[in-house]
Amino acid sequence: MRMNRRSFLAAGLAAAAGSVAGKAQAGETGSGQAVVGGEVVLATLLDLSKCIGCGACVEACREANAHKYPEPVKPFPKMYPAKVKAADWSDKRDVDDRLTPYNWLFIQTASGTYDGEPFELNIPRRCLHCQNPPCANLCPWGAASKDGRGIVSINDEICLGGSKCKSVCPWHIPERQTGVGLYLKLAPSLAGNGVMYKCDRCKDRIAAGGIPACVEACPEGVQTIGPRDEILAQARKLAEETGGFLYGDTENGGTNTFYVSPVPFDVLNQAVEKGPGKPHLASVANPFTTEDTLARAVYAAPLAGLAAGVLHLVRGATSEDGNE
Ligand code: SF4
Ligand code: SF4
Ligand code: SF4
Repeated sequence: MRMNRRSFLAAGLAAAAGSVAGKAQAGETGSGQAVVGGEVVLATLLDLSKCIGCGACVEACREANAHKYPEPVKPFPKMYPAKVKAADWSDKRDVDDRLTPYNWLFIQTASGTYDGEPFELNIPRRCLHCQNPPCANLCPWGAASKDGRGIVSINDEICLGGSKCKSVCPWHIPERQTGVGLYLKLAPSLAGNGVMYKCDRCKDRIAAGGIPACVEACPEGVQTIGPRDEILAQARKLAEETGGFLYGDTENGGTNTFYVSPVPFDVLNQAVEKGPGKPHLASVANPFTTEDTLARAVYAAPLAGLAAGVLHLVRGATSEDGNE
């Protein structure tokens, strides 16, 4: 079952997920799609030939997720370690031409010439929700994680804003805001590292049987969401039928976001503006094929339990103080 804005609204994601949940408990679904914890893994397809760059998806994302945005305590205390600079976007919340803690989706534009023809393409950019996400695998505190639907999110109650997720993400997607989060409770006089933010695939809307705000708002039906194997098959078919190119099926070991473009991605990557908050479109190898990276992942795992314990203690202490 594949859904764009219209069909998804008609049928409801809850019905789609529910229809496979029973089979998933037996370990697999009839279509053989990837299932974790009894839930269907979701993916999105973005047909770049359809995007007109109107920004309705960006606006919808900001509106739907505004209640999750950081409200930092100011002035910021002394930073620790001192080499870490404060990251403050709270006075620049209107910025929508790059990723920030207050803007989890932006439209990247690529123009140039391909095959002797001029092109201009708009590319909605956000977290790709990797199948084997380094951000979650290497987060020292277990704040970043992937759920049964393949959604990768960052728990703002646990994150200490150390930016490990950003440094290991091939696209450097997560963005940091200083002056919020657990760090303030653990060491208020030295607080400042903050919390990392990124697209969480509107997981609350999906849990309630809805679809991501950006998918719903698009007037051109650019995005389709559904079970990963069906969406990937659709993406491959679209690329084959249109002579297009696919991005996301093998990148970083495979993601749950597939772009199909009439122009090769290495050409698009040359054409887009890249830099802080503006990710590249280069091909990305699987980082978890090296022993070194695997070893680091295993090394980090025990600390996740420690972080959960600290959070438990902090919550208990603040509850007793009447602060929460
Ligand atoms: S794109 Fe980056 S932030 Fe998103 S899941 Fe993959 S590694 Fe994590
Ligand atoms: S899935 Fe939700 S959080 Fe992610 S970019 Fe779309 S609207 Fe924003
Ligand atoms: S709403 Fe649709 S057409 Fe408009 S910028 Fe977003 S993806 Fe492109």
